[in-house]
Amino acid sequence: MRYPEKQREISQVWRGHHVLKRDDKGAERCTACGLCAVACPAEAITMVAAERKKGEENLYREEKYAATYEINMLRCIFCGLCEEACPKEAIFLTDRLVSTDYGRNEFIFGKDKLVEKVDERIDVTVRQTEQVLAFKQQKKLSHNK
Ligand code: SF4
Ligand code: SF4
Repeated sequence: MRYPEKQREISQVWRGHHVLKRDDKGAERCTACGLCAVACPAEAITMVAAERKKGEENLYREEKYAATYEINMLRCIFCGLCEEACPKEAIFLTDRLVSTDYGRNEFIFGKDKLVEKVDERIDVTVRQTEQVLAFKQQKKLSHNK
């Protein structure tokens, strides 16, 4: 196969390049609780939490947010446990490939590579089953707020 001109079809359940999601209004969903880092068997996730200041409500959904959030893609085994652990629907693995590079430091992905752009949202519903999607639409559940 002539990569990258031609690319192999990937499974719907493929787990690739993570995304940190924003809410409907564009604020970052991650509240820097650290549960993804605790769940990560490869110890690939690190973060530094910060307090949201007055006037930043449109930037960060919760009072606490991740000032720094990094995933070491060389450590990551793409197991998806960070996604499972997140109570804020903030981190998902997507169908995107992690691009290749020459230097090891280039594989420490920070917020610039992880947080989705306000005007370029990343659809994460492809990998989710009908049951999961139905569960996530129940707004009365605290998990989905
Ligand atoms: S996919 Fe697994 S190994 Fe990779 S960052 Fe998430 S929990 Fe860690
Ligand atoms: S991505 Fe989710 S689990 Fe990880 S720190 Fe942010 S809110 Fe917590």
